[in-house]
Amino acid sequence: MKEVQRANLMVDFPLIRDLIDQKEVLWLNPENGPAQVGIVQSGISESEVQEASARLKRFAPYIAKVFPETAPSQGIIESPLTEIPAMGQALGEFYGRPMPGKLYLKEDNALPISGSIKARGGIYEVLKHAETIALEQGLITEEDSYIKFDEPALRNELARHKIAVGSTGNLGLSIGIMSAKLGFNVTVHMSADAKQWKKDMLREKGVTVIEYADDYSKAVEEGRKQADADPLCHFVDDENSVDLFLGYAVAGERVAAQLKDQGIKVDKEHPLFVYLPCGVGGGPGGVAFGLKRAFGDHVHCFFAEPTHSPCMLLGMMTGLHEEIAVNDIGLDNKTAADGLAVGRPSGFVGKTMAPLIEGCFTIADQTMFKLLAVLVDREGIRLEPSALAGMTGPIQMLSKDVQDAAHPNATHLVWATGGGMVPEVEMDHYYGIGKGR
Ligand SMILES: *Cc1c(COP(=O)(O)O)cnc(C)c1O
Repeated sequence: MKEVQRANLMVDFPLIRDLIDQKEVLWLNPENGPAQVGIVQSGISESEVQEASARLKRFAPYIAKVFPETAPSQGIIESPLTEIPAMGQALGEFYGRPMPGKLYLKEDNALPISGSIKARGGIYEVLKHAETIALEQGLITEEDSYIKFDEPALRNELARHKIAVGSTGNLGLSIGIMSAKLGFNVTVHMSADAKQWKKDMLREKGVTVIEYADDYSKAVEEGRKQADADPLCHFVDDENSVDLFLGYAVAGERVAAQLKDQGIKVDKEHPLFVYLPCGVGGGPGGVAFGLKRAFGDHVHCFFAEPTHSPCMLLGMMTGLHEEIAVNDIGLDNKTAADGLAVGRPSGFVGKTMAPLIEGCFTIADQTMFKLLAVLVDREGIRLEPSALAGMTGPIQMLSKDVQDAAHPNATHLVWATGGGMVPEVEMDHYYGIGKGR
């Protein structure tokens, strides 16, 4: 980015000064409009999300068989929606003002198979690819039992095919575990900041892991290049994949059903606020899209990012999307929230969600660690640092007087995006940091 361009941006968007200073900020999106308009503009049709949901149901018997931990939910990969009143009280104490409404946690850390939000989109894309191959080869019909995917005819066919992905960690885990289970030949291109235990776990499951000294964008670029050269290789493109997005979007109808089951209303008099940790954008973007489909203008969605990596905020605010990176304003993109260490946002997600998102806010790493420890102490729930990014959402809303946030009937839903696979020692270490040890 040129010097003069940067100077102009600072004039047009004074909030960039605070981003450079790594302050915890809230940005309210002026382009946010009626949900129905944004959904139509997206070009993503109603039926595409429904098809994704139906596809996951077709695969459910297979998933229940090969991942027995999903048997209780009949092979549907879903997480609990949990009220966390003690955490709400702690937030109130922390910030010196009582929390109105109710506080819930969407525990994607407890999603089966890979313990993070990536078990939604990542697994969906792999399943869809497997189905496409099987249908093309005449090895299955949509009416068959998909348990067939566990039989030699299909496994041998899939073994001829490759899947590749670039990842900071959790996407690699989901794609790697699911692909290897189906019999695919799978390679995960990992950035320097990816945790050692994730690389070890994938290698144990027969996944090829290639490491890069560089950051996430570089790993993706290299992975894409290698995959492009091979017609039998499918590259899972975290930055542009509509399939990933659709897999995440199915969460909308699932959450709607869970809220209903728990007797929680969402309407004009009962607004729903959702806080979603954001990396490249596919996960939170897809989930928010699904929620807007389910609840229209009664749901208010915010993306949460580390102060060192506010890529989606920067891209959306300036309208430059993937044409600007946090390095362009002098930020280092270094954060302990490894799922969120992304310097350049997805242009596809930024543009799709620009009319559908209420805003973005940032959170310092030390705040994430502190809240990580508080959540363990008050609720006994252990998350990875990234998954705490949304936890200051209610406070951000209240301190900036965001409309309806203080409504006594409001439900505040913090989307906990990961932590289920983190080894105990690693988790103890995080907790120690949060306790100031
Ligand atoms: C990937 C990830 C996110 C964000 O998802 P994106 O699609 O990259 O925006 C948030 N939290 C965790 C733990 C993740 O692994």
